[in-house]
Amino acid sequence: MPVRTCIACRARAPQSELVRLVRRGDLVVDATAPRLEGRGAYVHRGCIELAVKRQAVRRTFGPGAELDASLRADPA
Ligand SMILES: [Zn+2]
Repeated sequence: MPVRTCIACRARAPQSELVRLVRRGDLVVDATAPRLEGRGAYVHRGCIELAVKRQAVRRTFGPGAELDASLRADPA
């Protein structure tokens, strides 16, 4: 099982426990399933607000990158 680093808390976790993120235009979307190609990054679902607070999305994907609102609205 591949291990990936969460962009928000920087902890390492099995890939299956993380949400895969890919940038599409200026939007960073959930690319877990169906799996989207492209440069991916990983975040715990529970770390999404932390990622926003720490500007982790822009740090990872570059200026102008915005997290898809549906990811932030997910209560799980
Ligand atoms: Zn995390």
